Amino acid sequence: WSSDTVAAVTGSCRGIGFEIARQLAVNGLRVVLTSRDPSRGVEAMSALRMEGLDADYCRLDITDDASVRSFADWMLTKHGGIDVLVNNAGVNFNKGSENSVEHAAEVIETNYFGTKRMIQTMIPLMRPSTFGARILNVSSRLGRVDGRRNRLGDVALKEQLLKEDCISENLIDQMVADFLQQVNDGSWVSNGWPQVFTDYSLSKLAVNAYTRLMARALSNRPAGHRIHINCYCPGWVRTSMTGWAGNISAEEGADTGVWAVLLSDSPDGNFFAERRALTY
Ligand code: NDP
Repeated sequence: WSSDTVAAVTGSCRGIGFEIARQLAVNGLRVVLTSRDPSRGVEAMSALRMEGLDADYCRLDITDDASVRSFADWMLTKHGGIDVLVNNAGVNFNKGSENSVEHAAEVIETNYFGTKRMIQTMIPLMRPSTFGARILNVSSRLGRVDGRRNRLGDVALKEQLLKEDCISENLIDQMVADFLQQVNDGSWVSNGWPQVFTDYSLSKLAVNAYTRLMARALSNRPAGHRIHINCYCPGWVRTSMTGWAGNISAEEGADTGVWAVLLSDSPDGNFFAERRALTY
């Protein structure tokens, strides 16, 4: 890695995203912070610059095609492309009630479709390098197919999600479409969706499956043009998302993400937590 390596982090004016950006900059990378609100983003960028770190800023709403497009154009013009993309931006409205689904459409649109939009738009801008470019998706253990706390009731779907070769874009998109349809007609409870933080868990399940799918799709690129994609769970982190109720700081939550991005010999399609790979 060098000071020419450019890493962009979505949703990075606060929380885990800000810490990932800060730690990547401490490791010598040039970081691009992004946020929906430019004044808060510029403030975050200034905070990093005050620490002597190399930081830039661009506005970005991952749910908005035009915003993502103009971010990509800006990255190309200002930085000549991108080497590292961290898809951190996400929402969760389940704070008070574990299984409220009233914001399900926004949660899926942001966490899954927003992440997917970023990956698809930024891949063509990723620069060739010896180590390979990097994409890291900030996910959650709640999105594991067979997590201890959070089981998928649909056995056939579960089997498909656990078999690498069965995962397709159509399978994931259909899964979230079915869920949203069942939220609309009130039948989601009986249909075996995750039992904790249902809409949020499903959005991260989709992110995890998409990470594996993309790892497979990107695996044929020639040496020098490799792109390594992985995802990770930061743990239960004291941020606005958890109502500051987590058991670790944002700094600690960012650690495994930064570690994964900086691995000199990166694996593909892994799900990390606490600096080790977990099963999906
Ligand atoms: P925060 O709520 O503090 O940060 C979320 C970030 O996402 C904010 O910067 C927010 O930006 C941004 N964001 C939300 N929607 C959009 C959008 N449409 N476009 C661009 N940016 C957007 O939460 P955390 O720092 O805790 O969460 C960061 C990531 O970590 C999320 O993906 C979350 O799911 C994941 N995670 C968090 C855990 C935790 O315990 N905190 C546990 C497991 C995973 P804005 O300022 O514009 O609102």
